[in-house]
Amino acid sequence: MKKSILAIVALLTAGAASAQTYAIQAGRLIVDASQTARGPSTVIVENGRITRIEPGATAPAGATVVDMRAKTVLPGLIDAHVHLTGDPGTPFWRETIDPNELAAIVGVKNALLTARAGFTTVRDLGAPGNASFALRDAIHDGIVPGPRIIASGGALSIVGGHGDVSGFRPEVNAVLDPGGTCTGADQCALRVREWAKRGSDVIKITSTGGVLSQQGRGLEGHFDPAEIRAITSTAHRLGLKVAAHAHGARGIEDAAKAGVDSIDHGTFADAAALQAVKARGAWYVPTLMAFTGVRDRLGKNIFTPVVEAKGREAMAVWGHGLRAAHRAGVKIAFGTDSGVFEHGRNGEEAELMVRLGGMSPRQVLVSATTGAAELLGVGDEVGTLDPGKSADLIAVDGDPLTDAGALTRIVYVMARGKPIAMK
Ligand SMILES: [Zn+2]
Repeated sequence: MKKSILAIVALLTAGAASAQTYAIQAGRLIVDASQTARGPSTVIVENGRITRIEPGATAPAGATVVDMRAKTVLPGLIDAHVHLTGDPGTPFWRETIDPNELAAIVGVKNALLTARAGFTTVRDLGAPGNASFALRDAIHDGIVPGPRIIASGGALSIVGGHGDVSGFRPEVNAVLDPGGTCTGADQCALRVREWAKRGSDVIKITSTGGVLSQQGRGLEGHFDPAEIRAITSTAHRLGLKVAAHAHGARGIEDAAKAGVDSIDHGTFADAAALQAVKARGAWYVPTLMAFTGVRDRLGKNIFTPVVEAKGREAMAVWGHGLRAAHRAGVKIAFGTDSGVFEHGRNGEEAELMVRLGGMSPRQVLVSATTGAAELLGVGDEVGTLDPGKSADLIAVDGDPLTDAGALTRIVYVMARGKPIAMK
């Protein structure tokens, strides 16, 4: 009995090996965004992995040829801050009627949109219930197409902070409580352990107030530094990194000093805050596209007054934090906050990073490949097209090393060795 099962497994494996060889012929090939691009080259993919790169346009016997000889082929992009299970413009009261299971299904739609936009790895930082874990696992198992997901599940926050539920009658808020609030070092450490037990790959904290929640306590630091230290030390001991949503300067500084791995948004970052971020080796994740989602809805009676005020405050300094962080030599990882704006527009962040942040197109591409891969802890698998890595690659019109806009002109996507249907 056992022998026959092994024979079947061997047959299936052999069949898969011959059926899954691709020769992706590139006009220009970017193996590593920090290095000079190569001319015409062919990437050979076998069983989901890059096995070798050959000069010129080649086609091994039996390989499926992908003709990108008029395009640039490069590593699949990485977005370090998405919310696949949500769509922009959803009224806040919908959380009182939508089941968490709906979020997972919305996520299936958005995962495909995101992959088609050239993003083959994402870090999902905030989803209801277990929706992002289910989505992550379904994509991993090949049930639905999409990017590789590093998922946090819900965010940890203070009671009444961004990440808790506010804005309804107290008894309604209580029913909707996502269970991620904590007070004091012990309880915050407990939450990290609970989240790790449930399946979090990374811990997300809302270390300051946030724009789009109904909490009215501003955008500065909310957690006590001792609480953040308890979260980071507990998470790191379990092999989990910590992503800190942070807008206000002192909140950024507190989070960085407490050892978080990334500062996301970083809106009001000042010199002292950025010095702390740099000294601790944390990453800055700009999410400039999030502000387009806010900008487009200001002044239209879409937001409640409490959100409208915070939105205006943040919009007034759009891009200032990234510009200062980049000048200060802080490590930048590409991240957009998709879900606050429409999924699939992630690549538009690149031009904003150049225009508002003062980065070069090459620096932006590094941030979206090797940079974000390092932050997410997946640099051994993705970020470059080195043989042995997962076959996560895309083709674009133009040269993204000189034109950041090329990252919005995606013509081909392969995720973990499987082509993504583009229409
Ligand atoms: Zn976010």
